[in-house]
Amino acid sequence: MGFLADSLSRIKPSATIAVTDKARELRAAGRDVIGLGAGEPDMDTPENIKEAAVRAIRDGKTKYTAVDGIPDLKAAIVDKFRRENNLDYDTSEVSVGTGGKQVLFNALMATLNPGDEVVIPAPYWVSYPEIVSLAGATPVIVPTRPEDDFRMTPDALEAAITPKTKWLILNSPSNPSGAAYTRDTLKALTDVVMRHDHVWVLTDDMYEHLVYDGIKFVTPVEVEPALKDRTLTMNGVSKAYAMTGWRIGYAAGPQMLIKAMAKLQSQSTTNPSSISQWAAVEALNGPQDFLPERLEVFRQRRDLVVSMLNQAKGIACVNPQGAFYVFPSCEGAIGKTSAGGKTIDGDEAFVTALLEEEGVAAVHGSAFGLSPFFRASYATSTEALEEACARIQRFCAGLR
Ligand code: PLP
Repeated sequence: MGFLADSLSRIKPSATIAVTDKARELRAAGRDVIGLGAGEPDMDTPENIKEAAVRAIRDGKTKYTAVDGIPDLKAAIVDKFRRENNLDYDTSEVSVGTGGKQVLFNALMATLNPGDEVVIPAPYWVSYPEIVSLAGATPVIVPTRPEDDFRMTPDALEAAITPKTKWLILNSPSNPSGAAYTRDTLKALTDVVMRHDHVWVLTDDMYEHLVYDGIKFVTPVEVEPALKDRTLTMNGVSKAYAMTGWRIGYAAGPQMLIKAMAKLQSQSTTNPSSISQWAAVEALNGPQDFLPERLEVFRQRRDLVVSMLNQAKGIACVNPQGAFYVFPSCEGAIGKTSAGGKTIDGDEAFVTALLEEEGVAAVHGSAFGLSPFFRASYATSTEALEEACARIQRFCAGLR
């Protein structure tokens, strides 16, 4: 019996944060490293949002707030859901936490018991299965295929649901695959959930504002309003408004769940930062015109990266519809030896050799539950992306 909790042995530290740390370490040692591990926009928080935060400080809005959000922010969230998603929520059905991650953590911790199952399509955001495991429940991983653009099929979902299933976690557009559900592909999944009334849906809509090619973002309750009383619709300001450091995320769902989440939060972090909450009010209520401009920048980078990666020997990259990640297959590199003499026996060996030999930091697909792939973030400058892709091409050309 050690000093540390048994629950901790069930979880892994975040692989994406580990890669970022490793790249930082190499850079500090003088190596020229291009990081494709970033999970955040490289743009700055818009000026009007920063101003709102400064104003909040000056006005003394610097004290404890209501546990799960100030009334002004809850009202701004209710307006956002009505304006952008055609969803009608009351402020009593809204919860604000310290980042989308805490909201998700609250929801899972407040509902899961040992033995419960949570259906998670792979590749998944690294924290889903870890939080489920920490709660003592069981993640049920459903692999998706590049041929299906990494979307889960209704048959695969149907097969994964058991009497023990408590939640289905959906994330569109997806981190790490960039896959986005259309209205039809999402409706096919909600139709399955409608047949199993014990299953709740946790939808992570963090990348809502990052969808390309004219695809319209949709969220489960919008395509199937009958699921409203068993869906938690989660979102946040981190990615859309380049506010990852401010730590504000939110969700809307049935009051019973929202109250349970607040109870949990009241015994952990109390309230999210008062200053960040006022900044988030401005983010949601203020001008939104910079969003399409930034989207266009990301789209151009996506096109560049997909095209250059598909020219690398042994790499096959699906064109993703959203977020700022690509999730290429490196199957053609497996079994080969790198120019530096490393055996590429899987995607982790691929990204490790790529980092050591070419100074490009990406994250192995196995960290997201699907091999042999890797995740590259294009939330970095076009010049850095061109150079990184050229290095990947050279690395792949050197494989024997
Ligand atoms: N959900 C997804 C899919 C993400 O990619 C992230 C951040 O990487 C989060 C949630 C967490 O967002 P936040 O930084 O607001 O906690």
